[in-house]
Amino acid sequence: MSATAADLMAYDAALAAYDPALGLEVHVELNTATKMFCGCPTGFGAEPNTQVCPTCLGLPGALPVLNRGAIEYTVLAGMMLDCRTPSVSKWDRKNYFYPDMPKNYQISQFDLPLCLGGGVPLYDHCYPKDAQKDIEESGKEIGLTRIHLEEDVAKSTHSSNGTSIDFNRAGTPLMEIVSEPEITSPEEAFAYLNSLRQILIYGDLSDADMEKGQMRCDVNVSVRPDSQEELGVKIELKNMNSVSAVRRALHYEISRQIRVINEGGELVQSTRRWDDDIGETQQMRTKEDAHDYRYFPDPDLLPVKTEGIVEKMRLQVPELPHQKADRFVRDFSISEYDASVLSSDRDLALYFEETANESEAKKKVANWVINNVLAVLNERDLKVAQCPVSSTKLASIIKMVESGQISNNQAKETFVALFDNPDREPASIITELGFEPADADLIESMVEEVISGHPEKVTEIQEGNEKLINWLTGQVMKVSKGKANPKIIGDLLRKKIL
Ligand code: ZN
Ligand code: MN
Repeated sequence: MSATAADLMAYDAALAAYDPALGLEVHVELNTATKMFCGCPTGFGAEPNTQVCPTCLGLPGALPVLNRGAIEYTVLAGMMLDCRTPSVSKWDRKNYFYPDMPKNYQISQFDLPLCLGGGVPLYDHCYPKDAQKDIEESGKEIGLTRIHLEEDVAKSTHSSNGTSIDFNRAGTPLMEIVSEPEITSPEEAFAYLNSLRQILIYGDLSDADMEKGQMRCDVNVSVRPDSQEELGVKIELKNMNSVSAVRRALHYEISRQIRVINEGGELVQSTRRWDDDIGETQQMRTKEDAHDYRYFPDPDLLPVKTEGIVEKMRLQVPELPHQKADRFVRDFSISEYDASVLSSDRDLALYFEETANESEAKKKVANWVINNVLAVLNERDLKVAQCPVSSTKLASIIKMVESGQISNNQAKETFVALFDNPDREPASIITELGFEPADADLIESMVEEVISGHPEKVTEIQEGNEKLINWLTGQVMKVSKGKANPKIIGDLLRKKIL
């Protein structure tokens, strides 16, 4: 469901006197092979309750053993987001009762998390497409409070017969990224989530797919009158599971809070849930039943000294999306816009770069990848990593266009044919499709025929109206029944007339 124009106008009008302040808490499942405190595998899709042991089942007396890889991943995430890592980090028990967490506490981090500070840059291309022309503050960065590491709980599935619990997910390393309440619109929240996701994927830390539950998000929403310094009453939206739903939910919730205040009502600190089908938020609980988690240090786990980990991970910080975009502009002389589109996806950037490295025409390659390659992939609902045409073969198709051997349209057809038969060579497909350039003598005679048939145009061209070359080229194309190459014809016309 999308917001109607009337909704958006009402939203803009209500906002005139109020400032929203939004803070996001994002949970991300890390890509480690094993769980946070035991050796069970984390792979998705196994039979329920087959990837379990006494530790991740929460049986009494089972002892946790730290997964060093998860700590390294979190420190790396912190480095990519410009956080600092305190020299010592520790583990705490967060106590609460929940059926999918039988030991009745979650191992988490309270006062000494792995990362503090830092920020998430909001790249222009991360905003919703329809909002990219009205970005309020281009280049804005949202400050982070902290990043800590904890364990995921089991997954409950409710049905009419009762509730089943699958412990395969229990104990999966979960990184929680907490932002400052510096986000001021639903569109910035959207950009924040996209940018964060892109950066985590660049670091190979998580697939961060919200639809698959690998990335989950709670949003703290408050509004305050323009003139007021201190934040308004904080209301939490729980368990959002898509980036576009976060945007819709925030449009609704911000308007709702402003309406309550305007009507003289009072907002109460509470937790709400978003119903995407109905398009409204509903109250779950108020502050009266807020948890007191009674955090205390976990006696089974030693604090972590981080110095060695920081040193090791410093060498593994990858190039970030905006750094890659800058380099593409510098090295390949493509436009900033093209560079930002190409670097928005790690696999797309890799495919472009490999093709550009094998080609003289870098700008053509950028154009081709953004327009033709993405179009064919979208049509077939494939990801860039699944593109069957190798960068070498794409580079050779583009080279044939550049040398005038085939036209751009013929190149597109060749690419599609190659897509379906990726083991074949572009040259053999071109022969089969009849895209071989016609005999040179034949083209020359067709060009001469057209020149002598249109003496008045030839005079005009010689008097300076060079655009007419294109018109004459079209005439020769007609005579050749579309078989001749327009670039070769144009060159020949120019040579003979000018
Ligand atoms: Zn286990
Ligand atoms: Mn958490």
